[in-house]
Amino acid sequence: MKNDNIAAISTALGAAGVAVIRISGESPLSVAEKLFFPLEKIKVSDFIPNKMYVGEIKTEKFSDFGMCVYFKAPKSFTGEDTVEIHSHGGVAIVKGILKQVLASGARLADNGEFTRRAFINGKLSLSSAEGLIDMINAESLAGVKAGYSLYRERLTSKICALQDSITEVLSSIDVDMDYPEENLDKLSEETLITNLTKVSKEIEKLLSTFEVGRVLKNGVSVAICGKPNTGKSSILNALLNTDKAIVSDIAGTTRDVVEGSMDIEGVRFNFYDTAGIRDSDDAIETLGVERSKKILESADLVLFVLDGSEINADDEEIYQLVKDKNTLTVLNKTDKGEFSDARAEVYVSALKGENLEGLKSAIFDKTVGVGVDYNGDYLSEERHFEALKRAKEKFDFALSMVKDTPLDIVAIDIKDGWDALGEISGKTATEEIINDIFSRFCVGK
Ligand code: GDP
Repeated sequence: MKNDNIAAISTALGAAGVAVIRISGESPLSVAEKLFFPLEKIKVSDFIPNKMYVGEIKTEKFSDFGMCVYFKAPKSFTGEDTVEIHSHGGVAIVKGILKQVLASGARLADNGEFTRRAFINGKLSLSSAEGLIDMINAESLAGVKAGYSLYRERLTSKICALQDSITEVLSSIDVDMDYPEENLDKLSEETLITNLTKVSKEIEKLLSTFEVGRVLKNGVSVAICGKPNTGKSSILNALLNTDKAIVSDIAGTTRDVVEGSMDIEGVRFNFYDTAGIRDSDDAIETLGVERSKKILESADLVLFVLDGSEINADDEEIYQLVKDKNTLTVLNKTDKGEFSDARAEVYVSALKGENLEGLKSAIFDKTVGVGVDYNGDYLSEERHFEALKRAKEKFDFALSMVKDTPLDIVAIDIKDGWDALGEISGKTATEEIINDIFSRFCVGK
């Protein structure tokens, strides 16, 4: 059924002060009245919307004391009638109450089904739903902000404005088709070129924000490389303040890529320690070397580490491999003496923890950059980036044809571009795209 009653635990399972069980659908009050008994002399079916009622939550096996609130359609998250039961947060309590709810006329919600219903009922766009899931999954403040901007429809409103301009273009073409004797051709062709060019430029601007948006959402990947024993693992450990990587005196023992994450100014940085890019006869080590090369390829930043006390031709060999990437050269072991090297940009001692703050700032500046406005709007979803790129291609192609192609043919590409834009808000998204997005949600959201 389209809006049968669905229910789920909406808070995380665990020992906690409070938990929320949510029921949404055509008659959630009829479900709630079977297990919630208010202290006030009022029937559950007469509940005033948005008002919290205190009462007893009774299941077959036990009772709890909590609260219940009714949100009347369409003024609820899903746009349907919704009831929330607030109980105490123990795992057994919450599961027991959910069981009772399911025995009282509701079924267990699928992943993301509440949000899917909100989307179907026009409470939020597809990109807003994606922002919500990004926010819930975010592990850094920057990720929360990127998600929030999407959730609050900042991207959708931009896209809708672009779609409106395109609709205008399409309708001016229609006028031409319908009244050719009015000789509107010239005028609409000019308007068409001006408007399409403007839209294409705006899309270009949006596309250019993806680099930063992607990083704010997913984090920055930093590969640490350098000759064995320069102190790569030690630097990683010092930065992360953990003992994840193996520190050893024997060259080449960091055999695998060790991963660790930390926040710098609210942005997530993911570090990858490499096995050292050098040829080796050892099979396991060679495997590590291959993996390291892949990591270097995709890293946003390469930390190239020198041991100040032992600089030689081997360093230069590795440096040549990485110098054209976004590289930050770090000279380590400053505690051993006064060293300098023309390639070095930051001087640290991992052992003594010296200048780690300087290293963090340099890492931040070389990637996210100084003066980034986190509250600005960014493209942060690959899906949106791809859809916008496709839309721009269609509009640019239409522009290239305008001069010597009948306008009704040009209109086909313009309409395709409009559809590609619509995938972002969900206006023209396929069932497959929609299913994929909501399957990424957890149950209860
Ligand atoms: P990796 O092979 O590049 O990962 O190097 P490690 O982190 O395993 O370090 C190699 C050796 O150098 C270990 O004995 C570390 O204790 C030592 N080491 C690392 N950083 C420093 C430092 O800043 N100063 C000194 N004196 N020794 C260091």
